[in-house]
Amino acid sequence: MKIDLKGHTAVVTGGTSGIGLATAGLFLDAGANVSICGRDQGRLDEAAATLTELHPDAALLAVTCDVLDTDSVGNLVEKTVERFGGVDTLVNNAGQARVSNYENTSDEAWREELDLKFFGLLNPSRAFQPYLERSDAAAIVCASSMLARQPEPHLVATAAARAGQLSLIHSMARELAPKNIRINSILIGVVESAQWTRRYDALPEGKPAYADYLKEQAVAKGVPLGRFGKPEEAAMALFFLGTPLSSYTTGSTIDLSGGLSRHVG
Ligand code: NDP
Repeated sequence: MKIDLKGHTAVVTGGTSGIGLATAGLFLDAGANVSICGRDQGRLDEAAATLTELHPDAALLAVTCDVLDTDSVGNLVEKTVERFGGVDTLVNNAGQARVSNYENTSDEAWREELDLKFFGLLNPSRAFQPYLERSDAAAIVCASSMLARQPEPHLVATAAARAGQLSLIHSMARELAPKNIRINSILIGVVESAQWTRRYDALPEGKPAYADYLKEQAVAKGVPLGRFGKPEEAAMALFFLGTPLSSYTTGSTIDLSGGLSRHVG
């Protein structure tokens, strides 16, 4: 099945690597206009060049933006609407995990993590809402984590923040439904991305090759499918939830954990 998204505009926050970059690519494949953002100009330029090489006729806009800064998000909205005239899909993907446990997480670290998980979603959602309300295919989709339902002690703040964020997404789904804006999320286990290359790069000398490191991590974590997910696999679920392919789904989640999630329901 092929979906034609000509005239449809998707915004992907954190679209410069990993899952966000793969998601931007899928929307471009389907003919959509795409706006990506990230904080680092160099990574943004690189991502734009990669996407343009794969999609020479791409209707692509790349804007530096920190989703935690409302002025910066306002600029992303302004530039996107100026270029494409509106917005139909918002992919709230920007972010990263924080490795820390109960004993060693400072107050400042707690605040930073809660800020990222809540305002990284609230700022873009609020800023794009007036435009989403004018769309006949409006959807917000969030790259979230399996930790929302299955906490891990070494990711204590991220897990607590993801659980709260999932609750927020459910509330938003109820409140935005009368405005015909759907909102859903994907719950990721482990997916290859810049987050994992950063963790690998920080390992001392004598480390295994990257592919072997990922394999070891997947086995150590007990991922039933025995491997990390690919960014494209997560992107596919975001794409489904962010387009009319899922037009009767809101306040819901798709599991992207390779079977690692143990909760029922
Ligand atoms: P990457 O590090 O590859 O991508 C993260 C993206 O977010 C980058 O483009 C980064 O660009 C951007 N970003 C981070 N903070 C901000 C910010 N404040 N404002 C704007 N952009 C920002 O990681 P992933 O692809 O893995 O992550 C995508 C999402 O999936 C994240 O929310 C992550 O927490 C979630 N996730 C991923 C898992 C995994 O195993 N990969 C597991 C569970 C959840 P820049 O740094 O230049 O701003």
